[in-house]
Amino acid sequence: MSQELATRYPLVLVPGMLGFIRLLLYPYWYGIIPALRRGGARVIAVQVSPLNSSEVRGEQLLTQIQRIMAETGAARVNLIGHSQGALTARYAAAKRPDWVASVTSVAGPNHGSELADYLARHSPAHSFKGRILSALLRGVAALMALLETGYRGPKLPVDIHASHQSLTTEGVALFNRQYPQGLPTTWGGQGPEQVGGVRYYSWSGTLQPGKTNRGRNLFDGTSRSCRLFARAFVREAGQCDGMVGRYSSHLGQVIGDDYPLDHFDIVNQSLGLVGKGAEPIRLFVEHAQRLKAADL
Ligand code: CA
Repeated sequence: MSQELATRYPLVLVPGMLGFIRLLLYPYWYGIIPALRRGGARVIAVQVSPLNSSEVRGEQLLTQIQRIMAETGAARVNLIGHSQGALTARYAAAKRPDWVASVTSVAGPNHGSELADYLARHSPAHSFKGRILSALLRGVAALMALLETGYRGPKLPVDIHASHQSLTTEGVALFNRQYPQGLPTTWGGQGPEQVGGVRYYSWSGTLQPGKTNRGRNLFDGTSRSCRLFARAFVREAGQCDGMVGRYSSHLGQVIGDDYPLDHFDIVNQSLGLVGKGAEPIRLFVEHAQRLKAADL
């Protein structure tokens, strides 16, 4: 087996809101884990509360990191978080920088999601629409918990309000005041590459008519959802992946922020249906090479 992706520390993949490891046989990180393992990487996908605050999810992640270190004998881990998984990873690294070699944000709402802001304005928690949305999310989370086959651990608590608050621009600003590690100081800039011994990286995509809405995405419902959600964006109108803005995703070293990938394409969803010319798996493979070259 090739060892070109055999990083020093294991790669721990942290999912976003409504995330999972595997629903029956269907993985969240579709095609990504086998590609990394073929190159000799140790890869572990974890599960945290699908609907909860980044702090609660982060505490759950810390427990899992401890278990992974005990099981693998690794002294630290490389965290790669998609969407809210990035905030979850940032929390864990802020609390235990000695356990975390690097944090990589993949389409992470590191300055909040304008979609969450839109929902806060148009479907507040106490409103009729807000209550319907909560019930719907609760149902989806319960169904997903039934179908989850990759997670073995205690029942994970659900808090829909905390989950939503953790993703708005206002909520993430509060989070950022407590856990600023890796954030850029200017809007659209890059963050420090290393803070407290932890390396920080990020990448993200944008909707690009003619690319993201073509090719195999023509058959992908999540791609259509992203195009609908993108209409909620004001500050980063035309510069978002449907759920997260291009500049909002910046953390540490910005590897790229305009790949032709919507918010689901970036983890090769759904079923590897992505837009024309998109190669989401290649970005993960190249990143493992980058981490290995940095002795991480
Ligand atoms: Ca897709």
